[in-house]
Amino acid sequence: MTLKATINQITVNSLSLPEAAAAIAAAGFGGITVWRDKVEAISVRAAKDIISDHGLAVTGFCIAGLFTRDGRAGVQARIDDSRRSIDIAAELGARSIVTVVGGLLPETKSLDEAREVAFEALARTLEHARAAGVLMALEALHPMYAPDWSVVNTLAMANDWCDRLGPGMSMVVDCYHVWWDPAAPAEVARAGRAGRLSDFHIGDWLLETKSLLLDRGIPGEGVIDLRAWRDGMTAAGFTGWAEVELFSERIWAMPPAEALASIRVACDRLLSEAE
Ligand code: ZN
Repeated sequence: MTLKATINQITVNSLSLPEAAAAIAAAGFGGITVWRDKVEAISVRAAKDIISDHGLAVTGFCIAGLFTRDGRAGVQARIDDSRRSIDIAAELGARSIVTVVGGLLPETKSLDEAREVAFEALARTLEHARAAGVLMALEALHPMYAPDWSVVNTLAMANDWCDRLGPGMSMVVDCYHVWWDPAAPAEVARAGRAGRLSDFHIGDWLLETKSLLLDRGIPGEGVIDLRAWRDGMTAAGFTGWAEVELFSERIWAMPPAEALASIRVACDRLLSEAE
């Protein structure tokens, strides 16, 4: 089973959505995962038309969540905002919305409290996603992101939350965030058995990474055994898109067509069936 490659729009962050769709299609990719700010900059209707005019699939939508970011007093506003994101994702025809729950609450250092508040908020947002027919794809982020982005940090936690939350939940497996975790392969298999693998993000961890957030590598540049991840995902029954998601100041400084051409070569190498 060969996975097809898609591009998360953040990878070509300097481009508007029309520019990104044109560049991604020209580089030979079949899909685009879009960000809400880029969609809203031109209107949802226009975004939908442009993406389909370029023959691209909408392979995902970013993002819902960050429930804890503004403290307990801000949770309701974050839920409302996530509901709006879900509506846009549904209008665009995205199957899932990437869900990043948020880090510590500003008022306390308690991880337990942050997790409790985030879980409750996610449960309340989920009803809206179910009605809209969009999966909430829970993404575990590397523990170094726990303070400010996500207190869900392992695939085991993501699976546990999905078990508790039930229908309408799915999972993102992002190799960049979870490659270090000895339990990850078993958790990918567990998610596969539960039928909840909806999104597969690929990016590489550079040996001398310069930045926590903004220095991801093109697949093959870093230390992650991405072929093993590819094989683990397909063995678990995943048949979706391999999505290249690169938050990287280095890549953003490259001419986008050049960056996409390098990523295309890397994807062909990684996703081809031969070892
Ligand atoms: Zn990701």
